[in-house]
Amino acid sequence: MQSFEYKCPTEVVFGKDAELKTAEKIKKYGGSRVLVLYGGGSAKRSGLIDRIETVLQQAGIAAEIMGGVHPNPRLSFAREAEKRAELFGADFVLAVGGGSVIDTAKAVAIGLAHPGKDIWDFWTRKEAVTGAYPVGVVLTIPAAGSETSDSAVLTDEETKRKRGLNTDFNRPQFAVLNPELTYTLPSFQLSCGITDMLMHTLDRYFTIDRNNQLTDEIAEAVMRVIVRNGRVAHCDQTNYDAMSELMWSGSVSHNNLTGLGNEKDFSVHQLGHELSAMFDVAHGASLSAVWDSWANYVMSSAPERFARYAEKVWGVWNGETEEKAKAGIMLTVRFFRSLGMPTCFSELQGVGIQSDEVLKQLASNCMYGGERTVGTFCKLDIPAAYEIYKNANY
Ligand code: NAP
Ligand code: FE
Repeated sequence: MQSFEYKCPTEVVFGKDAELKTAEKIKKYGGSRVLVLYGGGSAKRSGLIDRIETVLQQAGIAAEIMGGVHPNPRLSFAREAEKRAELFGADFVLAVGGGSVIDTAKAVAIGLAHPGKDIWDFWTRKEAVTGAYPVGVVLTIPAAGSETSDSAVLTDEETKRKRGLNTDFNRPQFAVLNPELTYTLPSFQLSCGITDMLMHTLDRYFTIDRNNQLTDEIAEAVMRVIVRNGRVAHCDQTNYDAMSELMWSGSVSHNNLTGLGNEKDFSVHQLGHELSAMFDVAHGASLSAVWDSWANYVMSSAPERFARYAEKVWGVWNGETEEKAKAGIMLTVRFFRSLGMPTCFSELQGVGIQSDEVLKQLASNCMYGGERTVGTFCKLDIPAAYEIYKNANY
């Protein structure tokens, strides 16, 4: 086995009515004045915000409530929320929502711990993170896995740059996972979430370090569970068991258990981030739109890995290595389509790329203008990223 370090300290409270324990958990982790963040209104409309407010009031916890987080969360909003938290004297940040709200809460928490410094400097690595205020989560969409991950992704809407920041300080103290809170999700958002959680393991599974049996088997099991329950939930959104499996899979898929000892690849995420930064497309859609093109581009690096994926996740046991590898890619793409997800750029809402210059710009942005490569399974540079974008542009 490869060496690794593993830490996932987030306390998970799973099940029906789990959100009623929010106040108790905030107190446990030292909160008494809480900035509560939510998104564009779904949590307000469903009555969840009112329920949380009541629970906090009953526990004597002071709360400042702020909605308005946009999907692909924006730096300007995070800065504004940090100011509001400072004025309020917040000692805790509670995210009620999905990855966008959680990542904004993480940004605010880091900002609060470094008074006088600009949040974005941590995301551009100008400043090192030395602490963060505590964050709690009430999750409403199984998707990003940010509720237990060490990552937070922000978009600087002025420069159209989307950047992730990984640090242990990004781990929430607790995450409340009640599958019933997802029942109001629009079908497209559920599909985006299923795609994203599958991709968090795919982006770890396609790696050069393939000597970790338990890691591989956990990854394959997580992917099978996501596919099986993704199909059920797509047809029956209020199926508690399917939503439960998806909700827990979303967390496990991104808390690094499915990639322990592996050098993460994460090319598809990096390629997708540039699409979201330029066109503000939903995160999950940005991933399914490039995955087919990426997989076909990199497959020859290790067809046997794709063949194993086809066997273990899709049950393709017959055929030569390359045939199985291709079948695995085809079945993955078919699965995305069955969820109504885009698998090329013409299916991505709001994206019509006519000019080669745009593809070149995306490829350059992805490599920070040539300052970096992405991926480990197959290292990608600007020309490689350009090819992948070009092949997806039909
Ligand atoms: P999201 O952007 O937080 O939310 C997507 C949409 O779903 C919003 O329009 C939201 O509406 C709606 N929604 C959420 N819960 C709902 C519910 N229960 N009922 C009705 N509508 C609901 O989705 P996400 O996929 O979780 O997060 C995506 C972001 O996370 C991206 O920026 C991505 O890059 C990032 N990400 C982060 C990590 C990480 O580890 N930090 C990992 C992967 C991705 P409202 O706004 O009205 O609530
Ligand atoms: Fe993701």
